[in-house]
Amino acid sequence: MGAAGFCTVCGESPSIYFRRYSGERLCARCFCSSIVERVRRTISKYDLLRYDDRIVVGVSGGKDSLSLLKILHRIEQDFPRARLYAVTIDEGIEGYRSECARIAEEFSSSLGIPFASLSFEALFGFSLSEVVESGAAEKIGVQPCTICGVLRRKALVIAARRLGATVIATAHTLDDIVQTYLLNLLKGEGNIKPVGLRREGGGAVPRVAPFRLTPQREVALYAYLQGIPFQTITCPYTHTSMRDRVRSFLNWYSANRPEALYSLLNNFERLILRVGYGGERVCEVCGEPSSRKVCRACELEQRIKDALGA
Ligand code: SF4
Ligand code: ZN
Ligand code: ZN
Repeated sequence: MGAAGFCTVCGESPSIYFRRYSGERLCARCFCSSIVERVRRTISKYDLLRYDDRIVVGVSGGKDSLSLLKILHRIEQDFPRARLYAVTIDEGIEGYRSECARIAEEFSSSLGIPFASLSFEALFGFSLSEVVESGAAEKIGVQPCTICGVLRRKALVIAARRLGATVIATAHTLDDIVQTYLLNLLKGEGNIKPVGLRREGGGAVPRVAPFRLTPQREVALYAYLQGIPFQTITCPYTHTSMRDRVRSFLNWYSANRPEALYSLLNNFERLILRVGYGGERVCEVCGEPSSRKVCRACELEQRIKDALGA
């Protein structure tokens, strides 16, 4: 990340970061401003947020989501009718989630943003650790990260409905979104939907990703420069993730190709937009829009309950 000489934007301070895909050398202040500006431009380019939105930000306690919360808090000061809420979903991962939740709550209240926490236990009657440690996850042949991701998504929608939110903002970065597209392709998903773009159809609470044009390493550097607290404990289930393998591949692929992730994002979205992403129905169980009769989250929740009860 090191870079010699002075900042090419202000010309005054020493540069600390060389942005390979643009050729800029940036000082800490200009780098942080550029990230906030990028988020502003991303929101406006894709029409992600409206001036009077009630925005639920999913905060995991990690650096990405806390950075997003800080940046949206700053941007929303120009939009007095907009409201921000921070929501943590506690999956019940023993020894891990409590630290994240504490960091998220303290950080949200330091910005004066209302904070709420919802747990898997309260919503579904089981914790993720219980599902894994009891052998139920293995029994139904589903990885912990899949259970975590699918049910966290459902939990965030429940939280958004309770708060009357008009949109959910998540901290998925450019890297995350390209990973998701590639994972979906590898899994042979027939109905790949745009990720992190505002899709209003079918009464769903739209999910947007204001970091969709910001690389992961730049979000990490922003968090570091802003002194955003870092969680120190790693999730015990992280190594079971297929996404990690895709992430490693993309890191390797983009190492000497500065534009690679942007090209992949554009190419994936050109393909998806050309094919279209089809209409939606409504899940018979939860009433949320779904391409299936019973949505994936409700189906998974039931399979877990059956496996735990058996
Ligand atoms: Fe959930 Fe997997 Fe992330 Fe752990 S590593 S928090 S199980 S998605
Ligand atoms: Zn500068
Ligand atoms: Zn459902």
